[in-house]
Amino acid sequence: MHFSDDHALDGNALAGPMAELFAVDVTTALVMCNDCGAAKPLAEQAAYVGGPGSVLRCSGCSSVLVRFVQTRNALWLDTRGSKSWQMPAASA
Ligand SMILES: [Zn+2]
Repeated sequence: MHFSDDHALDGNALAGPMAELFAVDVTTALVMCNDCGAAKPLAEQAAYVGGPGSVLRCSGCSSVLVRFVQTRNALWLDTRGSKSWQMPAASA
C-alpha cells in the first residue's frame, strides 16, 4: 500500500460490519476505483475505522472508494468513489 500513516487496516476490517448489508462475502468483491480505475478485492483496499463512520480508500491512489456508517436503526453506504463492485454469483 502507498500510505505513509499507520491508521489504515486492510479492507477485512469492514467485512464484519458490512456482512449485514451484503449476504455474500464482501472481502472478495472487486471494487473499481473511480479515480485511477484500479480494481482490487475489498480485502486489499485500505480501511479506516473508528471514526463516526468507516472509510475504504483505494490502495493504489488513496481516493475514497466507500463510506460506511452504522447507526442503531440503519446502515448507510456511500459508493460514489467506486465505479463498480463485482461479486461472485451465489450459484457460482
Ligand atoms: Zn484509485
